[in-house]
Amino acid sequence: MPAIDYRELYVGGQWTHPATADTIAVHSPTTEELIGSVPRASEPDVDAAVAAARAAFDEPGGWASWHPKQRGEALEQFAAELDARGAETAARVSMQNGMPIWLAQQFETIFPPLLLRYYSDVMNSAPVEEERPGMLGGTSLVSRQPVGVVGAIVPWNVPQGISFLKVAPALAAGCTVVLKPAEQTVLDAFLMAEAAVAAGLPAGVLNVVPGGADIGAYLVSHPGIDKISFTGSTTTGRAIAETCGRLLRPVTLELGGKSAAIVLDDADLGASIESFFGATLLNNGQICWLSTRVLAPRSRYTEIVDTITDLARSLTIGDPLDPKTKIGPLVSSRQRERVEGYIAKGKLEGRLTTGGSRPPGFDQGWFVEPTVFADVDNNATISREEIFGPVLSVVPYGDESEAIAIANDSAYGLGGTVWSSDAGRATEVARKVRSGTVGVNHYVNEPVAPFGGIKDSGMGRELGPEGLHAYQVYKTIYLPPA
Ligand code: NAD
Repeated sequence: MPAIDYRELYVGGQWTHPATADTIAVHSPTTEELIGSVPRASEPDVDAAVAAARAAFDEPGGWASWHPKQRGEALEQFAAELDARGAETAARVSMQNGMPIWLAQQFETIFPPLLLRYYSDVMNSAPVEEERPGMLGGTSLVSRQPVGVVGAIVPWNVPQGISFLKVAPALAAGCTVVLKPAEQTVLDAFLMAEAAVAAGLPAGVLNVVPGGADIGAYLVSHPGIDKISFTGSTTTGRAIAETCGRLLRPVTLELGGKSAAIVLDDADLGASIESFFGATLLNNGQICWLSTRVLAPRSRYTEIVDTITDLARSLTIGDPLDPKTKIGPLVSSRQRERVEGYIAKGKLEGRLTTGGSRPPGFDQGWFVEPTVFADVDNNATISREEIFGPVLSVVPYGDESEAIAIANDSAYGLGGTVWSSDAGRATEVARKVRSGTVGVNHYVNEPVAPFGGIKDSGMGRELGPEGLHAYQVYKTIYLPPA
């Protein structure tokens, strides 16, 4: 397959020459071959992108001043152009980060246009301005205004889905965006830019600046930026929060996780095994909200460990472009080394029941077997730290209150699941889990409901109407008494 090469950047609504000749090369995690390259944005490119976004936001008659219905029509065009490129988008993501193609068709193809349409509807369904009769005489005119120019920084694990968690509500609210994709997944971002060009999105409304940590940090502190929205590791999130704190710049942070799957003593895990897979090992274990600490009751411990072990053994490992593949390669050799480091620790901290190695027969690619450790203490490194690979730790517990205490004994608080034959009982347990989101017998990022974390998992919310409000600021005009 010929490599996908881009020579220009999408800045200011058109393809522009980059300031330097630097490029980002993308390699397949499956074959290790070069699959494409794009220009690497440098500081002058970010300056140009921010200036274009600033102009599109500030100029009279610009994007921010459009009626929400008019913006909705433009976003519908954008959504239609994304739809038209859906199959190619899924394939590019799979080729770059190893996401199984059937999952890419959901997260990367269906989700982004769905979010554009959803946020157009949310924006149009409630007035942005209301009159409140005052208590001290007069009336207050309270409105929600777009926050301004948004710097959006995203990781490689779900590149399109996560980009649109930010781009869709920001654009619907009337903000303009400078998007910085991760270096590992830039080829899909250029397809997004092609869709924006074909849709005729006004100049400067969306700009794409591919680059690494340095260009991300430059964007975060850029004087032309009004808000940062970041998804990525807790370490990077902390650094960004420090900068935003100093600048008093609003910031949304979606960070790491180490969520618990609480398996109650009446659970029929076998009957919900597909959902359990989706909540624990999806995307080769590279999703922030996965329930990677499995809490199993001592009364049924052996049976539950066996069920999870059988699940891990049953998963087809292979080329992510093959629809039969359940587990593809990790994103990079560096990521595999990191995961293998945790597996080595796990062999000291728990009892390996399956996996633990590179799968036989895969001479190329960054593959790791789905791996399960049983008998793990909740204080072990593999219970406390995010591994970001197909590795589960099973922690035994006695009664329900101990399960909840173990679930809550974590630096993180992003996801989590409760498994039971009694959904009402599971919901009561879910209420007691200290986390931004918890699933009962399944886990799904539902567009209408807020998603985000507490503690080291971040702050702020995406999705739901709350995800739109993240890109709005309140403004009050005090009207005089009549
Ligand atoms: P990362 O933090 O290294 O990188 C994420 C993005 O930030 C990339 O675009 C990167 O180039 C950029 N970046 C790195 N350093 C920066 C800096 N100092 N300033 C500005 N930008 C910088 O994370 P990663 O390894 O690419 O992604 C994996 C992590 O992301 C995991 O910890 C995972 O849990 C987390 N994640 C969280 C969510 C969520 O919604 N909570 C979703 C997906 C991934």
